Amino acid sequence: MTPAALRRWPLPDPGAQADKEARGHVLVVAGSHEIPGAALLAAIASLRAGAGKLTIAAPARVALGLALAIPESRVIGLSETRGGGISAAGCRALAPLAGRVSAVVVGPGMLDESRSERFVRALLAMFRESTVVLDALAMSAVRFGPFTQPVILTPHAGEMAHLSGLPKEVISDDPLSAAREAATRWNACVVLKGAVTFIAQPNGEAWRFDGGTPGLATSGSGDTLAGIVGGLAARGMAPLHASAWGVLLHARAGHALARRDGPMGYLARQLSAEVPALIHAIG
Ligand code: AMP
Ligand code: MG
Repeated sequence: MTPAALRRWPLPDPGAQADKEARGHVLVVAGSHEIPGAALLAAIASLRAGAGKLTIAAPARVALGLALAIPESRVIGLSETRGGGISAAGCRALAPLAGRVSAVVVGPGMLDESRSERFVRALLAMFRESTVVLDALAMSAVRFGPFTQPVILTPHAGEMAHLSGLPKEVISDDPLSAAREAATRWNACVVLKGAVTFIAQPNGEAWRFDGGTPGLATSGSGDTLAGIVGGLAARGMAPLHASAWGVLLHARAGHALARRDGPMGYLARQLSAEVPALIHAIG
């Protein structure tokens, strides 16, 4: 997967007269009282990838903090489970957005996997017109698969082991097969992340990307990737194209920071600001 290959899958051009709706509305459902920052990272990344409009939905007690931290967003507070997750009833507050968002990113920083599962299921049903990026614990919705709408899954090897029931060593020994099998089984585009990342489609096609940099292995890095991919999907990219562009942009952002600050110790929150110039340079 190279920039030359990605140029075959260009970003949709909404034209000079386009308003923000034309570049897509992204809904980021993320965060918890323990990890509100994951919502912030994913949300900002989606805007940096060029989405025109952002709504964040997060547990009610962190909503105000997120709204103040991201003045570009509208924030909807959702009812919580006892474990700090989002309750299925919380989905009702999102009903006015159904049919009006082009992509949904769900999962970064969420808590309470077992109880949040019902929420994610209701969300998928409500946003069946949208591309949905499932990250972190929201991926447990694969239990309800195979999906009938465009879905992108972004597991690392440990999460893939948890989802598939296979030992982590089996995933690490043959990540390509693991990604392919998961994509077919769940009818989703699977981004199996690691030092080398594999992207697989339900029809068995797969791509390998080894252009990352070790400094990307840092807290919040995956939340940022999910946001970039969601932002690109909101702009109208197909799941495979948004995933491939997202993985490359995330890696290039890491390289840019590594050159400037050194190979380790840059922060996930710095990655997003690199993305607009990288899109411009590649596209
Ligand atoms: P997460 O574990 O969800 O925070 O995601 C970590 C991100 O960092 C993924 O995009 C991985 O592909 C990337 N990553 C992790 N380790 C490495 C590494 N050693 N070299 C390059 N990228 C990495
Ligand atoms: Mg993660």
